[in-house]
Amino acid sequence: MEGLMMNYPLTTTTILEYGNSVYHHKKIITYLPDGSRHEYSFGDMYKRCKKLANALTQKLGIKEGDMVGTFAWNHGPHVELYYGISGVGAVCHTINIRLSLNQIEYIINNSEDKVIFVDASLVPLLEKIAPLLETVTHYVLINAPKDFSTTLPNTLHYEELLADQSEDFEWPALNENDASGMCYTSGTTGLPKGVLYSHRSTFLHATTIISPNAGNFSNRDTVLLIVPQFHVMAWGFPYLCLLSGSNMVLPSSNLQPEAIIKILIAEKVNKANGVPTIWLGVYHAMKKNPPKEKLALEEYLVGGSALPKSLIEGFEKNFGIRGVQAWGMTETSPLGTVSRLQPKHDHLSAEEQLAIRAKQGTAFPGVEIRIVTDDGTMAPADGKSMGELQIKGAWTVSSYFKTNNSESFTEDGWFKTGDVSTIDEDGYMEIKDRTKDLIKSGGEWISSVALESALMAHPKIKEAAVIAIPDEKWVEKPLASIVLVNEEDKILEEELIEFLSRDFVKYQIPKDYIFIKEVPKTSVGKFDKKEIRRLFAEGKLT
Ligand code: AMP
Repeated sequence: MEGLMMNYPLTTTTILEYGNSVYHHKKIITYLPDGSRHEYSFGDMYKRCKKLANALTQKLGIKEGDMVGTFAWNHGPHVELYYGISGVGAVCHTINIRLSLNQIEYIINNSEDKVIFVDASLVPLLEKIAPLLETVTHYVLINAPKDFSTTLPNTLHYEELLADQSEDFEWPALNENDASGMCYTSGTTGLPKGVLYSHRSTFLHATTIISPNAGNFSNRDTVLLIVPQFHVMAWGFPYLCLLSGSNMVLPSSNLQPEAIIKILIAEKVNKANGVPTIWLGVYHAMKKNPPKEKLALEEYLVGGSALPKSLIEGFEKNFGIRGVQAWGMTETSPLGTVSRLQPKHDHLSAEEQLAIRAKQGTAFPGVEIRIVTDDGTMAPADGKSMGELQIKGAWTVSSYFKTNNSESFTEDGWFKTGDVSTIDEDGYMEIKDRTKDLIKSGGEWISSVALESALMAHPKIKEAAVIAIPDEKWVEKPLASIVLVNEEDKILEEELIEFLSRDFVKYQIPKDYIFIKEVPKTSVGKFDKKEIRRLFAEGKLT
């Protein structure tokens, strides 16, 4: 028997309408790339979303189901694009500005973006590949002066585009299962894969994160959104702030520790998000130069890489600021688990509590996780048995865009994360390792396989195996172990860096090289990365 409740659409437009009707006075504050501050209200933003909707449909010819790209920092217009594009039934495809030009070209052509909204400061990157972009008809420049000069074809200015549009727009009735946003993951081997979020998944993800057991957001909060809007719809924050009535502070490219501290103080920010590298930078800058007044910051939500215990401890002891760890993936919208203490942990020692907070945490309601061992059996929840972490839930990918990657899913419908984890008796998951042959440095992926094949194309190199090693600033960084064709040959590290810079962006290129006699291999002759990591950790990699 079907229930007799209304079939009310869980869409991004529902979120926008709610934010406007209940919290129209709440603020969106942007620090622009030149450091200047801009403030407006949710109500002002709402009107501009309607103008944008008119511009998209009437001036740019965008129809339901079309892809519209954004290539931009965090700021008010980018929030408008999240709502305006999905509100007209199109898909807001946020393009990661940190990918290599080859990858950016691939994902724009693969997604078939019709229009790209691009920040003036990022135009030089797109100019390099624009002739190769097959489907883009217009580029709309954001934050560009009137006389801005570019070789991009068919350009419009965002403010001019909105200026002569009406504030009246009737949102189309959308199916909540239709696509609202898209983000490519580079956290896989091979080509980036598109993850297509639905209105419904976006709505449910955002509402769940608001709850006190999860992200803990309310209309008393002012939140700094450090996670770039080109990363997994900025972890749902542009949506949840409208639902919870939290003021939003957007730093655009002001991501240096000193700039972040200045913004935290000026805006009395009490909650924020970001990858560990950002918070490590902020912590060390605050230690070096302690702020004169106590920050309003109560809590920062960290994900993307493991939150080091030392950082949780240091921030709390020295500044009374709490670090909360979450785990997730592009494929999981992204948030899947969060680690918070419960009343039953109150009696534990500080050290025991810290050990729990340093785990990746328990699943959100609406998400299930399990561990499957190498022999295909379910691992018991004992905190010791390791295996691959698998996930399913209301905001987990069911299939990649345009590709049939059945190897990423189990027959019984779980998504295989490629993370190796344990789950303890209380449901707290802990990441122990990764099956993906990738390195995550400062929140961005580096493919060790791609580096290895590039290095092995060097005439003097016989074998190259690249592993992740710990780094204080970037959490992980690549180390290349190299076997030369002729042992007596010499290659300077600078020569290798120069050689790799043809195909890789700067942060992806290893700065650390070790010249060895032979790469350890598995029984089937593959590079034994586990063994290389062990030898390196024990100082025996020679
Ligand atoms: P991405 O899809 O780029 O967001 O990357 C997702 C991957 O980042 C996960 O599969 C993990 O390998 C890693 N990751 C995310 N959050 C954490 C965390 N809290 N601790 C350790 N690794 C994490």
